[in-house]
Amino acid sequence: MVTHNINIVRDKIADVCTLCGRNPADIKIIAVSKNTGLSLINQAISAGIKDLGENKAQEFSEKFPLFSDEINWHFIGHLQRNKVKYIVGKAGIIHSVDSIKLAEEINLQAARAGVVQTILIEVKTSGEAEKFGLTDNSAVVNLAKFCSTSKNLNLAGLMTMAPLTDDEKIIAKCFSDLRKLKEELNSTGFKLSELSMGMTNDYEIAIKEGATMLRLGTAIFGERDYSKSWKEQ
Ligand SMILES: *Cc1c(COP(=O)(O)O)cnc(C)c1O
Repeated sequence: MVTHNINIVRDKIADVCTLCGRNPADIKIIAVSKNTGLSLINQAISAGIKDLGENKAQEFSEKFPLFSDEINWHFIGHLQRNKVKYIVGKAGIIHSVDSIKLAEEINLQAARAGVVQTILIEVKTSGEAEKFGLTDNSAVVNLAKFCSTSKNLNLAGLMTMAPLTDDEKIIAKCFSDLRKLKEELNSTGFKLSELSMGMTNDYEIAIKEGATMLRLGTAIFGERDYSKSWKEQ
């Protein structure tokens, strides 16, 4: 089932890319494996997936040692400062950096581990209270500047989540706002390449708006079963 799902996703990415003149090779699929068991994850890896996304520090720490270093890990969830040490140097990219204090702690732990940690700034384009991310463009600029003065941080781009709605215009605006913000930053000297946006319900829109990383859980693994822990799936 997972292989079939991944084929459907790849076909859709190819179709949308043809429509909007993009190259599918410029779009990375991150299989979001939160609350998903090893058997399904291994099926995804057999189908060629190399990038896995997790949103909880504990689950990430449990799963990380179980896979080879050919897997690129993405930390995509809200990250508390006291958990940073469990993620730095293990996740190739932390997508959810939304404050200078968090960036400071990542820089510190990265220095201790002797690594440069690649991060993305999470931007709240949806305006939804329950979501995380910076809302003011000026706060994003300040955080980006902080990153460029931090030796052990490599700021590679921006991340966002669109609201859960059927209104494609609202979703498209969130994603195009993120793209414009990246362009704005780059016009002032930053060199951001990544836009992490697009989930199961909205990744086709995200591709049209310039996504370079899609974070796909349900589309690949099916509905998550939260009545059991990942170990029991
Ligand atoms: C769970 C999650 C996803 C994937 O969600 P699906 O709708 O299952 O594709 C993507 N991004 C973040 C930050 C998530 O927490």
